Amino acid sequence: MISALTEYLLHKIYLHKDSGHDHIRFHHTIFNGKETFSNPQSNPKDILSAMSYNIVTAIPTILYSLLIYINSSFSYSLLAIIVGALYIFWVEYSHYLYHKPSGKFIEKNKIFLHLKEHHRIHHIYYSYNYGIGSNMWDIILKSQYKKNKTPQ
Ligand SMILES: [Zn+2]
Ligand SMILES: [Zn+2]
Repeated sequence: MISALTEYLLHKIYLHKDSGHDHIRFHHTIFNGKETFSNPQSNPKDILSAMSYNIVTAIPTILYSLLIYINSSFSYSLLAIIVGALYIFWVEYSHYLYHKPSGKFIEKNKIFLHLKEHHRIHHIYYSYNYGIGSNMWDIILKSQYKKNKTPQ
């Protein structure tokens, strides 16, 4: 949950801070969400985040698990770290498959397809659907794109 919030906020505030960021200049330009979005020939470099970005995403989760460690138990803090790391991995992996379909079993999964569509809309309407690995925070913070809403 914390990793998902960090993922959401970093994408919204940092990557979409202004149009000069590489995320807009490259990632959103290469995949425009209409003609280009999903292509087995995609270059992984155009999709994957830098390792440093993933480490920054993990910081709040690491701090949170440290807090658990200090206040309660080692096993719960370890669990928080593992869940957080798995979530960050899931964000990268699912995002990779959204743009570069690879015939994996999971790509037929309903939730996967729902999130893929959620992300495709983000590539068209930048100010909606910031969540990649989940749409939870888009729903809570009301940035989920709705068909009958006029996009800004
Ligand atoms: Zn974006
Ligand atoms: Zn994308």
